[in-house]
Amino acid sequence: MKTSPNPFTALSLAEQQLDALDATLMRRRLKQTQSPCDIEVKVAGRLLKAFCSNDYLGFANHPQLVAAMAEGAAQYGVGSGASHLISGHSVAHDLLEIELARTQEKHIDDARALFFCTGYLANITAITALAGLGLHPENQNSGISIYSAKLNHASLIDGVKLAAAQTKASVHLFDHTNLAQLNEMLQADSAAHKLIVTDGVFSMDGDLAPVADLLAIAETYDALLIVDDAHGFGVLGKYGHGILEHFQVQSDRIVYIGTLGKAAGVSGAFVCAHQTLMECLIQKGRPYIYSTATPPAIAHTVLASLHLIEGEEGQARRAHLNQLIAIWHQEMQLQHWQITPSMTPIQPLVLGSNAAALFASKQLDEASYWIPAIRPPTVPEGSARLRITFSANHSALVVRELISELQRIEAIVHASSETKMV
Ligand SMILES: *Cc1c(COP(=O)(O)O)cnc(C)c1O
Repeated sequence: MKTSPNPFTALSLAEQQLDALDATLMRRRLKQTQSPCDIEVKVAGRLLKAFCSNDYLGFANHPQLVAAMAEGAAQYGVGSGASHLISGHSVAHDLLEIELARTQEKHIDDARALFFCTGYLANITAITALAGLGLHPENQNSGISIYSAKLNHASLIDGVKLAAAQTKASVHLFDHTNLAQLNEMLQADSAAHKLIVTDGVFSMDGDLAPVADLLAIAETYDALLIVDDAHGFGVLGKYGHGILEHFQVQSDRIVYIGTLGKAAGVSGAFVCAHQTLMECLIQKGRPYIYSTATPPAIAHTVLASLHLIEGEEGQARRAHLNQLIAIWHQEMQLQHWQITPSMTPIQPLVLGSNAAALFASKQLDEASYWIPAIRPPTVPEGSARLRITFSANHSALVVRELISELQRIEAIVHASSETKMV
C-alpha cells in the first residue's frame, strides 16, 4: 500500500491495519448492486443469481409493498423529524406496534411492542436497559449476570459488552447445544438479576435455539430470556410469527426481538415483552431515546408487509421455501463438504480456510452466482464458509441448478486444495 509522505499517526495505523487484513485474506469489499434486491441482481453490469440475501419471502421488491411505501410517504412525508419521546412518534408507529404485539400475544403475557430503526439498535437497547434493572438499589449488592450464547450475532455480543461496561454485570458464554453446561453455571450463580441472551435462528448456521428448554431454565433460575429472532420472524410458524409460535411457548419472562429488514423485506426491528418491561425500555433505553424515529412511511410499509406475512400469500411462500429446503436435503450430494441439518432457509457449507471459501465464492461468481465467502470474525476461526440462503422467489429448478453447480465447484476446489493451490 502506498504511504503518504508525512503520514500522521492515525493514517499510518489505518494503513497497517488494512495491510494486516489483506495478509490474512480478511479484507472485505463492497459490491454495488444496480437493481432491486431479488433473486437476480445486476452487479457491475452483470446479472447474478443471488443466494445470499436475507429476503427469505421475496418481499423486498414486492409490488404491494413498493406501493405501500409510496402511499406512506404521501401520507406522512419522508422524515419523522425527532426522536420518539420528543415529537417523532407517529400514529403510523403506534398502529404497527399494536399489530406487532398481537403477533406475540399468545406467547408473551401482557405483550407490548416497540419499533426500532434497526435490529442492531434494538438489541443494544434491550440488553443495556434490561441489564440495567439490576442497578436498582433493591438489587445493588446481589449482582447481575448475563449468559450469552457463544454463536450469537455481533449486535448481541456488542449489547452484552456495553451492558457489562455500564452495569459491571458478569458475562458467561454458553454453548446452545449443551444446556447442561448452562444449567451448571446458573446453579453456581448467586446473582439476583440474570439475563439469558440467544439468537432464535443462528444466523450463520441456520439451526434453532432450543427455546422451550431455555425458557424452562430461565424459569428455574428466575432469569429473563432474550431471544433475537432476526431470521425466524416471517419464516417460522404457520403465521410467520417466528420462533415462539414455532415452539408454542408462553411466558411473561421472554423478551422477543424480531427484525423487519429480512423476511419482512423492509427495514427496522421490534422488541416485544411484558408491558412493564417495555415501559422501562422507553424510560431507560438510551439508543431508543436518542435516535431519530424511523420515518413513519417505513412503519406504514412494514404494517403492509406484516399482513402479507400472516395471510395466504405468506403461508404459500413459507410452504414453497420448505419445499426448496427439502430438495436441498434430498438432492445435495457432496464428496468432501458437509451439509448441515438446518431446516431454515440458511444453508451453510463450511469449507474451513479463508482461502478455500474465497476461491469457491470466486468460482461461483464466474458461473454467475452470488454467494459470498463468510469469514472470521463473523464465524469462528477456521470455519469460513459459503452461506447459501433461499428466497421464496427461487424456483425448484434454480435450486437444482445451484446444486449441480456446487457439486461441480466442490470438485474444483478440492482438487486445488490437494495441490495446495488454496
Ligand atoms: C441482521 C441481524 C441483526 C441486525 O438487524 P438489523 O436490522 O440488520 O440491524 C440482529 N441479529 C441478528 C441475529 C441478525 O442476523
